Amino acid sequence: MLEVRGLAHRYGSYAAVENLSFTVAEDELACIVGPSGCGKSTLLRCVAGLIKPTAGGVTLHGDPVDGVPADLAVVFQDYSRSLFPWLSVRGNVEFPLRTRVSNRTERRKRAEEALAWVGLEAAGSKYPWQLSGGMQQRVSIARALACKPALLLMDEPFASVDAQTRADLEDLLLRVRREHGSTVLLVTHDIDESVYLGDRVLVLSKSPASIVADLTVTLPAQ
Ligand code: ADP
Ligand code: ADP
Repeated sequence: MLEVRGLAHRYGSYAAVENLSFTVAEDELACIVGPSGCGKSTLLRCVAGLIKPTAGGVTLHGDPVDGVPADLAVVFQDYSRSLFPWLSVRGNVEFPLRTRVSNRTERRKRAEEALAWVGLEAAGSKYPWQLSGGMQQRVSIARALACKPALLLMDEPFASVDAQTRADLEDLLLRVRREHGSTVLLVTHDIDESVYLGDRVLVLSKSPASIVADLTVTLPAQ
């Protein structure tokens, strides 16, 4: 359903990603793992349509991703810039639902439900600046999950939260995906996390990123 073909991205003359090709099947959770600075965020931004590849392209269900709004949600690593400061926590989670859910009561319900998933049901009326960094990141995750997007893109989503919250959020992601069947592309530098979460792990070389291993993860039955 997601196809990346011959993707390259240069910042000026610096090649961050070069000739990268892979596909992610419907409902697959693929982790991209690789050393810091290898081009993971650049890859994710290209897939999200936020920056334009220098060569190659990305298609979603066969349609090119080129800035046209697709049914996707993105969670960035940098929580400090991802929430709207003038909206309450609840308002932030409801915002992308405006184009997806026409009924206002239903939108509110979805937002409250997603805030409860991340343990922030009591923080809906607060503003982002009133929350810790880890809490702001949980709001970003709630906002993305509330959309129940066909494609969920996550860039080091758990890097800024403590170990217990991280474990809870990882399990939440697995549960929500099982229930709603999203395709997920998650970038991390943590190989343990990639194996725990992923059905599949794509290992990138150092910059310019190319795939050095494509692993299917099979865990023993529990
Ligand atoms: P990763 O997410 O794997 O840490 P990035 O995609 O952020 O890697 O960056 C890949 C390379 O491109 C790095 O060497 C980084 O310094 C460089 N880079 C990233 N963003 C920019 C930018 N806006 N301008 C110039 N170079 C950049
Ligand atoms: P989290 O537990 O969300 O990862 P932290 O580890 O930064 O976040 O903070 C631990 C706890 O301390 C938070 O869950 C919250 O209860 C409280 N806290 C931290 N910073 C703030 C703040 N600026 N405003 C309100 N509560 C805060």
